[in-house]
Amino acid sequence: MTTTLQTQTKQSREKKPVWLKRNLPTGSDFEKVRQLLSKASLHTVCQEAKCPNMWECFSRHTSTFMIMGDQCTRNCRFCNVKTGTPMPLDPYEPKRVANAALELGLKYVVITSVTRDDLEDGGASHFAQTIGEIKKLSQIDAQKQAQKIKVEVLIPDFQGDLDALKVVIDAEPDVLNHNIETVPSLYQTVRPEAIYQRSLELIERASNINRTMPIKSGIMVGLGETKDELKATIIDLYNHGCKILTIGQYLQPSAKHLPVVKFYEPKEFDELKEFAESVGFKSVASAPFVRSSYQADKLCCG
Ligand code: SF4
Repeated sequence: MTTTLQTQTKQSREKKPVWLKRNLPTGSDFEKVRQLLSKASLHTVCQEAKCPNMWECFSRHTSTFMIMGDQCTRNCRFCNVKTGTPMPLDPYEPKRVANAALELGLKYVVITSVTRDDLEDGGASHFAQTIGEIKKLSQIDAQKQAQKIKVEVLIPDFQGDLDALKVVIDAEPDVLNHNIETVPSLYQTVRPEAIYQRSLELIERASNINRTMPIKSGIMVGLGETKDELKATIIDLYNHGCKILTIGQYLQPSAKHLPVVKFYEPKEFDELKEFAESVGFKSVASAPFVRSSYQADKLCCG
């Protein structure tokens, strides 16, 4: 998975600058959503990571579902997801996600997952089934909702398997997202099981396979990268066919995760946004609390 959402350690919370202090959402509507999701035994990344944007997204009828369980076969040093031996896939999960999306009245759904290197196709067919179920239900319900639910998939790298990537793209998601996460010099430290060039290749392949489907990626900052490295990665992404970009502040989920090296100031995020737009990106969200799925509907479709 590649959603970069973390809760914070006590130490990093204390050290956090004012612009990173925000209360988590509460209230009845929020409780209704939480109960519905737990009843459907579904994981939303939003809840798992106590995302500070949760309420804003829910009120935009957007949410992110994490499929294929909550155990990842990888162990990225920034991520709060459990690492271990995943459970077998649940064949009923795609339909449950679709039902929950409909029941929540969602207009834009992001589907992400843990990385399942244990599966032959890395879970690509499970992604495709989930897209299919949402589109099928949304089609049936389109008369009532007057619009179909848009689906963005935030996919792992499928270990570079082109056929797996094609299976997901053939299911026609509205947006395909794959996070590059950080700069190449930090890959060994931050996400040792991933390969920078392999992720760029996935983005390029996806943009060549379906030229009308927007390709999106995301970067976390504050792990020790330089501004020049960031700019080089932004240019790499654009040159490989990426058109939508998110840039957000890394926050340390627990003391056993990588420490925050730098808290970027809001004006530095503005500078990175300006730079990315000058490179040619169609849509850029760049701010301390930006996460992969933040304002995903707006970034995708204006
Ligand atoms: S691949 Fe890395 S970022 Fe994604 S869920 Fe697994 S540990 Fe987290």
